[in-house]
Amino acid sequence: MMRLPWFQFHAPTSVAEAARILAGEGPRGMLIAGGTDLLPNMKRRQQTPATLISLSRVEGLKKIANGSGLRLGAGLSLSEVVNAQAVREQYRGLWQAAAQVATPQLRNMGTLGGNLCLDTRCNYYNQNEDWREAIGYCMKKEGTTCWVATASKRCLAVSSTDTAPALIALGAKVRLVSAAGERELELASLYNNDGIAYLTRKPDEILTEVVLPEAGGWKSTYWKLRRRGSFDFPVLGVAAAVRAASDGTVEEARIVLGAVSSRPIVTKAGDLLVGRKLTDEAIAEAGEKCSSAAKPMDNTDLDVYWRKEVVPDFVGYALREIRGDDMRAMRMRIARQPL
Ligand SMILES: Cc1cc2nc3c(=O)[nH]c(=O)nc-3n(C[C@H](O)[C@H](O)[C@H](O)COP(=O)(O)OP(=O)(O)OC[C@H]3O[C@@H](n4cnc5c(N)ncnc54)[C@H](O)[C@@H]3O)c2cc1C
Ligand code: SF4
Repeated sequence: MMRLPWFQFHAPTSVAEAARILAGEGPRGMLIAGGTDLLPNMKRRQQTPATLISLSRVEGLKKIANGSGLRLGAGLSLSEVVNAQAVREQYRGLWQAAAQVATPQLRNMGTLGGNLCLDTRCNYYNQNEDWREAIGYCMKKEGTTCWVATASKRCLAVSSTDTAPALIALGAKVRLVSAAGERELELASLYNNDGIAYLTRKPDEILTEVVLPEAGGWKSTYWKLRRRGSFDFPVLGVAAAVRAASDGTVEEARIVLGAVSSRPIVTKAGDLLVGRKLTDEAIAEAGEKCSSAAKPMDNTDLDVYWRKEVVPDFVGYALREIRGDDMRAMRMRIARQPL
């Protein structure tokens, strides 16, 4: 049995108090929300904070505000996000992404903020300490070599969050608060293409809120490839959001790929669709464009070449669903649930 290392634990009740403790702890401290990713990582000694600052008692992080757009507190559990009527009805891509994270039990504990700040993953890193020691560790923790690409100067671990691509496609921003102040940035800018420094968040910042623009006129969707339909991390995620005129001509479109790089990839495929209708030809072109943007590495589940090959198929499913095609049978085959 793997045991947790010793750590100090703080349970502040406000963002200001949490920010003050986090700033005071410096590199010794880490935030913990649901703990569904961090605690297993600590057991495997992938992450070894001396102090944990829990956000679970900060009620201010658990609010949903529906006004001009939607504001979602980072401390909402993924189940609360899935159960929010506004999410289900207006931001379908986010609803589908959150509903496919892990299992019901993990969605009850895991939070939106934790999902957005999720550690990157790799077959050479998500192992217990003995396993990692046997290979001399790797660049992400304790070692110097990247076993996925030994010539690589950067870690290629994979961004595996389901909600980030969906939220980026929807044009979301995030609010970050520290003891020194606060700022709002496009969610896409929260991510670096680096498996170690995968967030641009400063170490003393807390992600407090996700801010979604008005959904009027937009249709969105999320398609996820994973080995088991019951639960598994994504090895490909396709999030699409399209705003079209009444005759079906696309006015704006965004297609974002997850799990094929160290950060969600905002593709240029959406631009190809603007001014056109979602014909089979336009959809196929967008799929090819996404395929060339996808950079899967051989460090997660399923064959790496096949994962790239199926990108146009998944982009096709997403855009055809937005076009209004009946994709329920395909959904059931792939997701094993009626989303
Ligand atoms: C078996 C299993 C299957 C899983 N499957 C999936 C899956 O399919 N898709 C998926 O996306 N995830 C999956 N996960 C990962 C995880 O359960 C979810 O991503 C979950 O949403 C993480 O949220 P949390 O609150 O538990 O994060 P925590 O574990 O508490 O934290 C994760 C990271 O985020 C940081 N953090 C948390 N909150 C904040 C905040 N407000 N501001 C700044 N930093 C913060 C923490 O410091 C830590 O680095 C799975 C986990 C397990 C164990
Ligand atoms: S990509 Fe390379 S450095 Fe990063 S976790 Fe995997 S083996 Fe380690």
